[in-house]
Amino acid sequence: MSDGAVLHVKGRVLAGPDDVRDELWVVGGRISYDRPAGARDVRTVTGWALPGLVDAHCHVGLDAHGPVDAGTAEKQALTDRDAGTLLIRDAGSPSDTRWIDDRDDLPKIIRAGRHIARTRRYIRNYAWEVEPEDLVAYVRQEARRGDGWVKLVGDWIDRDLGDLAPCWPREAVEAAIAEAHRLGARVTAHCFAENSLRDLVEAGIDCIEHATGLTEDLIPLFARRGVAIVPTLVNIATFPRLADGGEEKFPRWSAHMRRLHERRYDTVRAAYDAGIPVFVGTDAGGSLAHGLVAGEVAELVTAGLPPADALAATTWAARRWLGRPGLEEGAPADLVVYEADPRADVRVLAAPRRVVLNGRVVE
Ligand SMILES: [Zn+2]
Repeated sequence: MSDGAVLHVKGRVLAGPDDVRDELWVVGGRISYDRPAGARDVRTVTGWALPGLVDAHCHVGLDAHGPVDAGTAEKQALTDRDAGTLLIRDAGSPSDTRWIDDRDDLPKIIRAGRHIARTRRYIRNYAWEVEPEDLVAYVRQEARRGDGWVKLVGDWIDRDLGDLAPCWPREAVEAAIAEAHRLGARVTAHCFAENSLRDLVEAGIDCIEHATGLTEDLIPLFARRGVAIVPTLVNIATFPRLADGGEEKFPRWSAHMRRLHERRYDTVRAAYDAGIPVFVGTDAGGSLAHGLVAGEVAELVTAGLPPADALAATTWAARRWLGRPGLEEGAPADLVVYEADPRADVRVLAAPRRVVLNGRVVE
């Protein structure tokens, strides 16, 4: 399609959970609900249209061993795009992927800079590894480097203890989160366990990744403060395998990981029922492949979210949370078209009929 051409999307346009229209037009890469006058070179795409999906926990420029080259990062981004993910919240990457912003054929990325972890308390080659007295300075640096988010590693295995344990003293996270907020950045943290959560939430954190340790006593606190969670259930599915691998050296940690895994659906369902915002994230780019967004939506449904809310967690609600438009008049035309109604069965997300990015149909 040339840039002067017009795209006509017809069938059902799911512009919002309760805002369903019959058609939209794409003119000059942007959405319009008015048929353009004198449109000649019109291409029509038929089906059920959703805003480009959001993967709110994804890592571009990272693999299991650390940073990757630009060619590999490009392949990761293309895999996400072809799965319908057109907006990524990058939850930490040691690579400079800023060049992706100049590519209108790649998903849009909201970066959290590089992970900030406690010394030797995270996956090697991923994070800045620092001590509490340096946390504020690193948060300041990454808040300036990212796109409005900072990513902390809130808990990790303590090898002396042989179990998950918080990485930071309360005063350190209080100062760090205050500094990020002063700079206009939101803060999120990787947390598997229960006992890192209260300090982070009371210190004003905006989001918790994984949140497998969310318990009944903490849920009202999250709900009251509006702290979002991104469960990454497709990643939590790997806990039993991790537990097997660590069994011999760290039996307590293994048993803990298994318990968190066993109650994962109950945890997510209880959070959802309490009104905690839940968003779709796959954790692609560490040990997981890219392009798993449909699988994560299906997992949220398995956990007990109504299909429409699981969809909102990767479309309308996720975009609002990240401050990006959906299928509004004048917005960049980032959308995905499916063969059937995804509200009836979210599994249709696994096979997009057409992906449209910046107004162009991806071929
Ligand atoms: Zn991650």
